[in-house]
Amino acid sequence: MRLGILDHGYIELVEHWGSDERIVEAARMSTGKGFLGWGPKTVCAWCLTPEDNPKNSCMGGTPHVFELKAPGDEKLLRTLWENKHATPFEMAGAIVEVQAPIFVFREWHRHRTQSFNELSARYTPMPDLAYLPDAEDAVRRSEAAAKTRNKQAGKVADAEVLTLDAVLRLLQEEADLLVTIEDLYRRKLKAGFPKELARTHLTVSRYSRMRASANLRNWLTFLTLREASSAQQEIRQYAHAVHAILVEKFPRTMALFEEKRP
Ligand SMILES: Cc1cc2nc3c(=O)[nH]c(=O)nc-3n(C[C@H](O)[C@H](O)[C@H](O)COP(=O)(O)OP(=O)(O)OC[C@H]3O[C@@H](n4cnc5c(N)ncnc54)[C@H](O)[C@@H]3O)c2cc1C
Ligand SMILES: [Zn+2]
Repeated sequence: MRLGILDHGYIELVEHWGSDERIVEAARMSTGKGFLGWGPKTVCAWCLTPEDNPKNSCMGGTPHVFELKAPGDEKLLRTLWENKHATPFEMAGAIVEVQAPIFVFREWHRHRTQSFNELSARYTPMPDLAYLPDAEDAVRRSEAAAKTRNKQAGKVADAEVLTLDAVLRLLQEEADLLVTIEDLYRRKLKAGFPKELARTHLTVSRYSRMRASANLRNWLTFLTLREASSAQQEIRQYAHAVHAILVEKFPRTMALFEEKRP
């Protein structure tokens, strides 16, 4: 499943491990009982034996009275999540492949407890792809930042009020510049520049590619930080995509996460 993000980016699940069931199973190592099943289950009102697994007769040899609805292991999963018993959530995880602008990677790589492998511009020329923001979005963000006094998304102190005309003009200038930058890159490579030096004038809007691996506990912390309204919109889009991937693989854990974010 490859999800397109921004103008040339994507995120794709490489693989995942574990499941909601495995998380419960790991938590039950303490009692050795394993995963017992999702509910609600009908159990005996007297001895709590589940109806779908009635091994013995009830107390005193009488038949069971199956009439009580008991929650299944979602109760334990909820308890783990709500009480921050976090280690069982480290028993599951996922690897994703990401194509994103370098400035997004700079934010992403701050999550030091994930594992990364990135394309090396010392070995291969970088893909000829650079991120160009959407003009109307830039105006919207400038206006929104002014209202919320969001310093990171806001303009510098003596700036004018941003108009769509100005954005369109400046982004056209930027697009032209990117053509010049790419042309220079190719000419440097052609002239025999070492690849590691040919890249020195490339912009942080240039797309790079990496794989990121983390356990589920780590991904949930990543989502908490990078889906927040205070995070930069570009990395938020990637975080939303990670979120969608995790919902597919760990639906019950993700439902708890959405209900009660830390
Ligand atoms: C909205 C937003 C704005 C930000 N703005 C800036 C900014 O302006 N400038 C900037 O530099 N960064 C900024 N950051 C990055 C931020 O400071 C963190 O580096 C980033 O969110 C990763 O968080 P983390 O350290 O918890 O993650 P990880 O590096 O994955 O660490 C996970 C946890 O492991 C532990 N840990 C890891 N390494 C150490 C260590 N060396 N010592 C002690 N404990 C450790 C900590 O408990 C940590 O919470 C911003 C982040 C966000 C979400
Ligand atoms: Zn019984």
